[in-house]
Amino acid sequence: MSGGAELERASILLVDDRSSNLAALESVLARPDYEIVLAESGEAALREVLHHDFAVVVLDVAMPRMNGFEVASLLRERELTRTVPIIFATASVYDMEHIYRAYDVGAVDCLRKPIDPHEMRSKVGVFVELYRQRRRSERQARELREAQAREQQLRLSRAEAALRESEALYQLTFEEAPVGIGQADPEGRWVRVNGRLCEILGRPRDELLATSLPDICDDGDADRIAASLDMLRSGEARIYAREHELRANRSLRTWITLTISALRDGDGTLVRFIAVLDDVTERRRLEVERGRLVAELREGIRARDDFLAIAAHELKTPLTPLTLVTESLLRKLEKRPEECSPPALAKQFSRLDESVGRIEKLVDALLDVSRISVGRLTLSLEEFDLAALVDKVVARLAAEREPSGSTVTVNAREPVVGCWDPFRMEQVVANLLSNALKYGSDKPVEVTLARAADRAKLEVRDHGIGIPEEAQQRIFERFERAASVQNYGGFGLGLWIVRSIVECHGGTVSVESRPGEGSAFSVNLPLRSAASRSLRGAAATQEG
Ligand code: ADP
Repeated sequence: MSGGAELERASILLVDDRSSNLAALESVLARPDYEIVLAESGEAALREVLHHDFAVVVLDVAMPRMNGFEVASLLRERELTRTVPIIFATASVYDMEHIYRAYDVGAVDCLRKPIDPHEMRSKVGVFVELYRQRRRSERQARELREAQAREQQLRLSRAEAALRESEALYQLTFEEAPVGIGQADPEGRWVRVNGRLCEILGRPRDELLATSLPDICDDGDADRIAASLDMLRSGEARIYAREHELRANRSLRTWITLTISALRDGDGTLVRFIAVLDDVTERRRLEVERGRLVAELREGIRARDDFLAIAAHELKTPLTPLTLVTESLLRKLEKRPEECSPPALAKQFSRLDESVGRIEKLVDALLDVSRISVGRLTLSLEEFDLAALVDKVVARLAAEREPSGSTVTVNAREPVVGCWDPFRMEQVVANLLSNALKYGSDKPVEVTLARAADRAKLEVRDHGIGIPEEAQQRIFERFERAASVQNYGGFGLGLWIVRSIVECHGGTVSVESRPGEGSAFSVNLPLRSAASRSLRGAAATQEG
């Protein structure tokens, strides 16, 4: 200790067989920072050293039974007392020489009797100071060790806290990840799965943990995954990534992307398989939908191109006679006006009128196509007798057709009154009837109209070329035709327009036919159609 700091008390053992000597020594050494212990024999001294840590032992050499040297050698023998400094007190010069020869001077000193108090205090003081220094360095070493231990403990607990925090973060990330993550052991058995994985696979965690990674898929795919695990195990593959469809134990079909990689330790030993799963059902659905739309668009483009070719051809057919007749008329009027009598002109004009009529019809049909396609066909509903309308159409078409053509019979025993669009219904009857006349091979055509409960039933039957089975559905689609272009002109639009109008009225149209035997087209219409309907999927407003 230095400065004004309190000194550590030092114990001093005084050993002498004479109590008067002990008392004299004690009074010489007495100091508040010394604790003096007295022993009147070697045995008593040995007992004392067992209980005290002495800074120094002052040992009288000449004692009966056990002399000072014997005590000293016993002290040196014992581990605990081996280093205790000893000051021998003797009157013999021979003893002193012996002491300096026999002992290591650092731990032993000698005092000549009669004792010089000053020398005594100084020698004891040296050993006490040494003792205190030793104690100080021991304490400092202990404090240093303790500080180091505390520091180490602090670092350890900080590291543990950081580890706990990172473990918790890892846990949270694993569990809350927006994709399914699972770990499987080297045999492929699940050992850990997160919530999203259970959700995607639609299975509770416990149930899932009792299965293996390949079990997420059905047989074929399960085998494929098992084979990929083999390749990852052997190091042949580094990663497995594929889309799979899940069906097992599920009512809904789910598509997933599955990625598997192998986790190895520092020695390259396989520790875990890591599987990452994501639900891509919606994306797959959109892809399928997009594929369907692309196919539909392609088909639409093909149909439009076909249509343009046919439309050009069809428009050309009436335009050619129109041009020829007009040119010849002009020539006659210029060069031989005398030949242009009213009856002759009337004949030519009626041919012109016929061609213009055909062009008009074609243009009307084209207009209907565009109206129906964009859903802008409007219905003007009114109450009328369908039987009367059928008669009117039959009479009109009879007037237009060749006298040698088919006969048309109408079987309509009673009026069939309902609420429909008369103009559009006329189109329906006219299209069906003109088809029957066109494809009817000049054989009789029968039109039957009847009422059944709250519905009207119209049938147009012919005995002509008929329609092959495969075409019976598609001829109701836009631009679809079943007859050869060489023999029969046409846009392939009439039946599509019929179906659109009939469905817009809430009805249906169908055909029964055998090739070579004829066809029967049936229209089934509610007497009152629903207030407003969409036409071919698009909005059609209703008037009247
Ligand atoms: P278009 O007659 O202008 O070709 P439609 O839409 O009216 O167009 O008819 C589509 C196809 O249905 C026709 O090309 C024809 O092959 C077939 N079809 C329609 N009506 C009859 C019928 N009465 N007999 C035989 N085939 C018919």
